[in-house]
Amino acid sequence: MIIWRPFELHTHTIHSDADHTLAELVNSVKGNELEGFALTDHNTTSGWTECNSLEKTSDICILKGMECTTFHGHMILLGLNEYEDWRQFTLENINDKIENIHDKGGIIGIAHPFQIGSPISTGAHWEYEISDWNKINYMEVWHGPLPYKQEYNKRAYALWTELLNRGYKIAGSYGRDWHKSRASEQAFAVTCLGIDKDRACDIEKDALDAIANGRMIVTLGPIINLAIECEVTGEKFEIGEEAVIEDNVGEIKVLLELGFNNKNYEWKLEQQQLNISIMSNLAELAVVGCPMQNTKKEIYLPSRELRWLRAELFGQIENKVEMIAFTNPIYIKFLRR
Ligand SMILES: [Zn+2]
Ligand SMILES: [Zn+2]
Repeated sequence: MIIWRPFELHTHTIHSDADHTLAELVNSVKGNELEGFALTDHNTTSGWTECNSLEKTSDICILKGMECTTFHGHMILLGLNEYEDWRQFTLENINDKIENIHDKGGIIGIAHPFQIGSPISTGAHWEYEISDWNKINYMEVWHGPLPYKQEYNKRAYALWTELLNRGYKIAGSYGRDWHKSRASEQAFAVTCLGIDKDRACDIEKDALDAIANGRMIVTLGPIINLAIECEVTGEKFEIGEEAVIEDNVGEIKVLLELGFNNKNYEWKLEQQQLNISIMSNLAELAVVGCPMQNTKKEIYLPSRELRWLRAELFGQIENKVEMIAFTNPIYIKFLRR
């Protein structure tokens, strides 16, 4: 059984340009009732030496990473054992560099691809030409405070959808780009990582595996879960997986689940009816109304020509319908006979 653990995947400390120390960040993460975070200081791994002792005293999982901050784009690197020199990345060699990072067991996420670049934030706008998007593990499609209404996030989200439609497997994440520990009145999201409770042994390894394989839900609070069940074999496919389905199955069974935990990281929504939209390569397939409580629903959808599916949760924030959460896709492959 998969449980969804709330993590923050993009943080900074005084080891680069943030206001807080790593110990202060750990306290804030704990105060928000998150279970872990990725330490992604700009172009330095100097904070890594503090991680082990802070993990022990806090019980917070820290993924050692860095934000490779270059003049043509920012990349989050996770799962590496060594520093990656940002000065070596050029418009010409980027694809070789990406290949090399994968060979070393690294995970690559593109940070805030459409944020305004120079002179506001040098290199924040992604300009590199990627030859194979399957080599990018994930893209930060939501970033910063009030992520649902930022125009640059809408562009990132649209690019993600376009890449999925072109057949690439790439995950979507949220990054708070956490620089200050002081309290804020603004809404932030979290990325929940799907970890198999029965197999979990090393939380750091399991968290990296969830990120690398798109087992992620991004949310302002409620957990929206999606699965596909094959009625013939009884096989169940979860977020991030590829569902292999017989070509002659006319309909697929889609399982939806909405859950509330009342944790500190959850943005408090007004009581209302929420809507779950099932998005796919064939655009929106269904809209399912849900009360604001723990709910399970089953729907049947025509399977023809489906290549991927994801769920998106919508509701009112400040009298406007906004996206509150989204899942990563389940990919679909038909067994042609
Ligand atoms: Zn950045
Ligand atoms: Zn950053």
